[in-house]
Amino acid sequence: APFIITLDGPAGVGKSTLAKRLADHFEIAYLDTGAMFRATAWKLGEGAWDWDKDKLDAALKELEFTLSGSGSNSTLSLNGIALTDEIRTEKIGMWASNMAKIPAVRTLQKTAQRKIGETTSLIAEGRDMGTVIFPQAPCKFFLDADLEERARRRFSQLEEMGKPADLKDLIEQIGARDDQDRNRKVAPLKPAKDGIIVDTTKLDIDGVFARLVAEVKK
Ligand code: C5P
Repeated sequence: APFIITLDGPAGVGKSTLAKRLADHFEIAYLDTGAMFRATAWKLGEGAWDWDKDKLDAALKELEFTLSGSGSNSTLSLNGIALTDEIRTEKIGMWASNMAKIPAVRTLQKTAQRKIGETTSLIAEGRDMGTVIFPQAPCKFFLDADLEERARRRFSQLEEMGKPADLKDLIEQIGARDDQDRNRKVAPLKPAKDGIIVDTTKLDIDGVFARLVAEVKK
């Protein structure tokens, strides 16, 4: 059976960077489930979270996600087209969070994510990987860090992408998005009961990476 490691946590904690490094290290694929919610929100457009059920169901039926490649070269595609950095803004992050509250949207993602996990060994990164999607995974990590530190990490990441943002704005936006993700009724952001919680506030990426690799090898 495929080997699955789950990596959950709030926005900006460094999940994507670590997931890519772990995927390269263990030579398995990397599944960025946040990108699936972002792509859904981006494809359907602003306000889709207010659509009536029939309209939303019809639109969701047209979305097909596939994963190809391995390690940090894992590529997620929507209807055959590879996702790009266009979905990586905080605006689309909030749209994604708005869509992620809707049960029909989560059901679609759950089916797609589990289907990928049936055939592919994965580092699955998101908010509910350990609690809902792959609770049977042998290694379930929950990364956390103070809001300000996460906003600084996201600030650097966006700068590297050529999408500079304002740090104060980021603190506000990320804080609001986390509140929404933590307090929603379906699949709220939280650690799995048997998950490993790592507070990364005072750790650098190499330190966290070493810690996670050691846990996986246990
Ligand atoms: O991880 P990322 O910031 O790209 O995720 C965007 C949004 O998608 C999150 O704020 C969250 O609302 C939603 N999400 C989710 N479940 C996941 C992954 C992401 O609800 N497994």
